[in-house]
Amino acid sequence: MRIRFGPAGKPVGFKGPMENVPSYLAEIGLDALEYEAVRGVNIREEKARLLGEEAEKHGVLLSLHAPYFVNLAAEKQETVEASIRRIVQSLQAAEWMNAYIVVFHPGYYKGLSREEALKRTVEALRRAWDEARSLGVARPWLGPETTGKTSQIGSLEDLAEICGAVERCRPTVDWAHLYARSEGAVIVSKEDVVRVIDFVEKHFGTEALKPLHQHFSRIEYGRGGEKRHHVMAAQEYGPEFRHVCGALKELGVDSVIISESPLLDKDALVMKEICST
Ligand SMILES: [Zn+2]
Repeated sequence: MRIRFGPAGKPVGFKGPMENVPSYLAEIGLDALEYEAVRGVNIREEKARLLGEEAEKHGVLLSLHAPYFVNLAAEKQETVEASIRRIVQSLQAAEWMNAYIVVFHPGYYKGLSREEALKRTVEALRRAWDEARSLGVARPWLGPETTGKTSQIGSLEDLAEICGAVERCRPTVDWAHLYARSEGAVIVSKEDVVRVIDFVEKHFGTEALKPLHQHFSRIEYGRGGEKRHHVMAAQEYGPEFRHVCGALKELGVDSVIISESPLLDKDALVMKEICST
């Protein structure tokens, strides 16, 4: 079993170019990096390949977070088309840099039944794959994320239905989002975490645990879920990382844990420390 840790994006205070991040992470003891394309996929092929080579050289596993502006179940067809385009661009960039998974938020139910919203999402993702395949994309997985608000598509059950109908799809488990979405009802014990991992294994297959892609931070929630992410030192907010790590170690789950704390890399090291005791 191996648990990797890394930041969502450039380390705090890091000034150099993206391709210098992997060596920096290796130096401070981290071995994963989520490339943030959350405001649009702007990286050129040459730069992406260079980042991939550096990551490989320094033993850093890459993932890529697609743009936030994605709604695959949107009412407006042009929004769906733009969303598909962003997913395809993300898959293409991931292929170039050899990122193993493309994390994304599927969209919103907004006025649709759950069934209709999921059906539209599946159709859009199938089209995204058709297009990405035609561009030669073969390596990355689609990794829809458990989302933090009840208005967003992205319960674990939603993701199971989506990935059951779409090729090369496995979940990104954001523990903070599961906690916020449930308004603090789950992810409050090691047993809760074990239940989630069992669900993933049963509904997505063992491949989804090799490794299980995860996000973590403390989080503030209100009615309807997520408000904002907090640093590890803000003990008034949950969830507790020891529950997550305890379950991962007990079940022997290969893991990639991306820190979405405002103190990205620094708190990734705090998580690593919690896991090592
Ligand atoms: Zn996300």
